[in-house]
Amino acid sequence: MIKLYNSASNQIEEFKPLEEGKVSMYVCGPTVYNHAHIGNARPIIVFDTLRRLFEAQGYQVKYVSNFTDVDDKIINAAINEGVDETVIANRYIDAYNEVRDKLHTVKLSATPRVTETMDEIIAFIQLLVDKGYAYQAKNGDVYFSVGSVKEYGDLSKQKLDDLMVGARIEENQDKKNPLDFALWKKTTKGIQWDSPWGKGRPGWHTECVVMIDKEFNSQTIDIHGGGKDLKFPHHENEEAQNIAASGKPLAKTWMHNEMLSFDGAKMSKSLGNVQWAKDVIERLGANVVRWFMLSISYRSILNFNEETLAAAQKELIKIETPLKQAHVKAAMQNQELGNEINSDLWNRFINAMNDDLNTPNAYTVIFDGVKMLNQQLRVREINFREVGTLVNTLEKMLGILGIFFDSIEVNEQDRENYEKWNEAKAVKDFETADIYRQALMERGLI
Ligand code: AMP
Ligand code: ZN
Repeated sequence: MIKLYNSASNQIEEFKPLEEGKVSMYVCGPTVYNHAHIGNARPIIVFDTLRRLFEAQGYQVKYVSNFTDVDDKIINAAINEGVDETVIANRYIDAYNEVRDKLHTVKLSATPRVTETMDEIIAFIQLLVDKGYAYQAKNGDVYFSVGSVKEYGDLSKQKLDDLMVGARIEENQDKKNPLDFALWKKTTKGIQWDSPWGKGRPGWHTECVVMIDKEFNSQTIDIHGGGKDLKFPHHENEEAQNIAASGKPLAKTWMHNEMLSFDGAKMSKSLGNVQWAKDVIERLGANVVRWFMLSISYRSILNFNEETLAAAQKELIKIETPLKQAHVKAAMQNQELGNEINSDLWNRFINAMNDDLNTPNAYTVIFDGVKMLNQQLRVREINFREVGTLVNTLEKMLGILGIFFDSIEVNEQDRENYEKWNEAKAVKDFETADIYRQALMERGLI
């Protein structure tokens, strides 16, 4: 049984798919005006891990995430560089995809873009206008009327009245209610489309609702995710539109990852502390980044600094070393590692992960397995069946976390060196032993 924290109910709930054996999930993607920063990597890793966990238990997962390729920030970047918006968007879409690939994520089922969904977005806004949930204001913009949906505020557990107190300051004379949000923005600047409301472009909150309907052919999906910063207003606004259009909730389960923090500070260019995901991956490797990101619950704030990174790096070495040793010893001695699994370890791991992705508890199980493997490797006559079972189990668990170590290639020369090294050691000829040890070390085998 998989249990997930539903941030719509604020409770842990048993996951029951809409369709037996299938999972539909959608995670709000980035606005592509710049590179992904390391904070953006957290939802990438968390939701990829969730997907892998479902797949390991036989579910067929359809995972969609959008690219917001129409936005003021993209338009401004295009003006600054004197290029088309598409040049900016394509550049950072490619960069984002590269980050995903480098982070070992399973390929997404679809990555829809706003520019490719425009007809559907316009038709959807028209539907909301026709149903009386949206209106065109004097300034030409089309707004969603939050007061027309009685459930507004339910997702983020806020009362409309309380929200309005905060919203008054930035009251816009053209809106009926200061909380009303733009579905369509009339514009004369930047990329624009024809619409029943004149030339313009859509607001941000509509695309995901339309893309979900289009990609899943359903108004409700199993899981809708994103970072916690998106819960309000973005997800509240998505939910309101979906209820208005179809009378249905957008998702059965809403999941929000907590933020990655930078010693309490906000990452910003002006502070000079921006950490691009690509640079961190380049420096530490995807395995360390994933191990670090999953080291605490996705619902806790994770602090990004040199100490926490170094701790993750050290832990992973403790795991990689005996695994590598096992592979090398088996290869040197022409032994197979088989395909058996330690079901006790595996079940404990899956139970931890099924408990709302309790990765800290899952890590404990991995370390238990590592300890057992170290013990097995320490004996004189290695039992390769036992070693193989532990190796397979550890690698299977790490695979759910998206952590994969390079495989080890051993050739005839290596085997010969290994034998000679052991022979020399046996007769205490340390000088000769050192020569072979050196050769094996140079090949990265010991
Ligand atoms: P954005 O392009 O800002 O919409 O971000 C893309 C995704 O990254 C969204 O799911 C955000 O919620 C998420 N995100 C942005 N900043 C952080 C952060 N510091 N920690 C965790 N997730 C973040
Ligand atoms: Zn969204």
